[in-house]
This record gives sequence, C-alpha cells and structure tokens, in this order.
Amino acid sequence: MQLSIDLTGRDVLVTGSGTAARQAVRRYEAAGARVFRLSVPEGAPGDGPLPERPFLVAAVDDGQPGWEPLLERSRAAGIPVAAEPAAGPAGHVTLVGGGPGTLDLLTVGAVNALRDADVVFYDRLAPYQELERLTSGRLVDVGKQPGHHKVTQGDIEKLMVEAALAGENVVRLKGGDPFVFGRGGEEVASCVAAGVPVNVISGVTSAISVPAAAGIPVTHREVSHMFTVVSGHAPLTGKEHAHLAGLCGLGGTIVVLMGIGTLPQLAAGLRRAGMRADMPMAVVERGYRPGQRTTIAELGTIENAAAGCSNPAVLVIGEVVGVAMASRNHAAASADLNRLAASLLEA
Ligand code: SAH
Repeated sequence: MQLSIDLTGRDVLVTGSGTAARQAVRRYEAAGARVFRLSVPEGAPGDGPLPERPFLVAAVDDGQPGWEPLLERSRAAGIPVAAEPAAGPAGHVTLVGGGPGTLDLLTVGAVNALRDADVVFYDRLAPYQELERLTSGRLVDVGKQPGHHKVTQGDIEKLMVEAALAGENVVRLKGGDPFVFGRGGEEVASCVAAGVPVNVISGVTSAISVPAAAGIPVTHREVSHMFTVVSGHAPLTGKEHAHLAGLCGLGGTIVVLMGIGTLPQLAAGLRRAGMRADMPMAVVERGYRPGQRTTIAELGTIENAAAGCSNPAVLVIGEVVGVAMASRNHAAASADLNRLAASLLEA
C-alpha cells in the first residue's frame, strides 16, 4: 500500500513492533518522511533518538497495552495520531506478468499489486527499470542470465514462501505472462504446498506483443488463422522430426521464444520437414526496449541474416511476416525514419 500524501522532510513517529510496524515504516519512508520508531511503550534500545515534536504519530495496533498514554499526550499537544491497521494474519504471493518491458503494456492489476507489495522478486525480463516508481516494497533481483543462474528456481520459490510466511505481501514479477515459459505453474505449486495464498495476474506475453512491435500480426485474415508458440529449447533442437513435421503441417504462424541459440538447427529442421525455403521469417530483438531491431529474411537465408542477433528475441515464421512488410505500421515506418535521420547525421 502506498500513501498518497507527500511527507517530504516531515518527522513521523511509528509506534509498535512486528510486521505491521515495519510495513508502516516503509510506507511513510516512501512518502518522503523521516521516520522514527518506538517499539515498546518504554522504548527499545535499538530505537535511537526520538523527534521532539513529530509531525505525525503513526500508531500501529500491535495488540500491546500501554500505548494509550503516549497517544493521549500527543493528541493533547496537537500532534495528529494516525491509527495504522494491524498486519493481516498471513502474507500472500501474487505472481504478476510484467509484459514485454514497457510500462504501456503493464496491466492495471500489475500496477495495483506492485503498489501494495512489501517485497518484489523480479526477473531480468520484467520491466525492472521502472520498479522504484511503482512500488515502495523491497526490490530483490532474482534475474537469470541465459546460461548461468543467479538464484536457482528452488531458491526463488523458497524466498517467496518465506517472505509470505513472515507476513509480507509478496509480488513475484516476471516478464511477459507468468504461465508462458515462465515457470509460473511451479511457483504457484510451491506456494500451495506451503499453505501460502497465491494468485496470478496475467501479463501481455512477448509471443504476441513483440511481433506486434515489429508490425507483425500473429494471425491475419486469409493468411494465417492459427499460431503456435514454441520454446527454442527442447524438443525443437533435438532430432524431433515428427514434431517439426507436425508443426509445418499445421500451416499456421510459428512463434519461437528463447530461439536465438538454436536458430540454425530450427531452420534446418523445418526445411527437412518440408517447409519452403522462401517462407518469410523474422527475428525481433529487444521488443519495446532501446535497440529494438527486426531482421527479416527467408527460412533458407535466415541463418546468415540473423548471425548477429542476440537475446532476448522472438522468432516468427510464416506468411504473416510478409503482411508486416506489405503494410508497415506507423511505428515501424517512423522508426525507419529515425534510423535514416541518425545515419544522415553520422555521414
Ligand atoms: N513469460 C515470457 C516468456 C519467458 S521466456 C512471456 O510471456 O513473454 C523468455 C523469452 O521471451 C526470451 O528468450 C525471448 O524469446 C522472449 N522475450 C521476452 N521479452 C522479450 C522482449 N522484450 N523482446 C524480445 N523477446 C522477448
């Protein structure tokens, strides 16, 4: 929960102990206040000096008797006393889809969940640059670089559950949608196993939005009436000929996530499975982020064309890529103009 009041430079005294008091301290600090704590009616050794005359006393209902005289004295001295709610019985976890990395594609539900968070565990692909503006909760980076895991999946789940059991309102912010190659299902399962209440806020998946950023519609009337989203990890990388043949046989758009590392094998496999060498194909890197780039080629030439491409990227294979080329949307056209202007300036 965030306070909608600017307390910059004001002294606020928070009374009480436990999770609710910690949450109140964070709320008031986020609103700009200089916060002082008084943990027990007599004052605890760790509390430090107290302000002579606070702007406000935030009284956390921690069930302890003995606060009333202090609160009475404050009121009598004309210092406002705000009653702070006690912490709920238990914390909970909200799995939040952060979309492809731009604030514009964050849902209202995601914004609300972040605002109410005590702690946010976020991924490399989540819109983490914006987090400090969106939440006053503690920010914990559990992002993984491809190849080396910063925090293991098991540890992430443990951290989330522990924080929730300690009474915190936990947000697990993930890129795109939590249930599209996001291991969201596993995280829900570990919360359920630990008896922690958990809910999921869907996000805008990169599988649809990143092609859109390049002007590519994943379906288009009379061109493609289906799309299949696959992971560039197994089984497409193996000798799963039947799998690739099935995919080609569908005749729809194929969208591949995490596909940069295995692009040559995928292109060769699709060719072996009978796909035309001149099937249009696009690689869209860093959708909605600085340096967004689209590389368009054909199945037979993509390996060379995309040699310099890097993660994160979404691959699109199908006739819809041609639709994008035919009807360049306004954004793509103006991006081209910007590039043209930049290259003229460089020249
Ligand atoms: N849950 C996510 C996908 C996680 S897998 C979602 O629904 O979008 C990670 C992969 O998503 C990356 O390897 C890349 O293929 C893709 N991806 C996510 N964000 C992206 C972005 N902004 N630009 C390009 N690709 C992106």
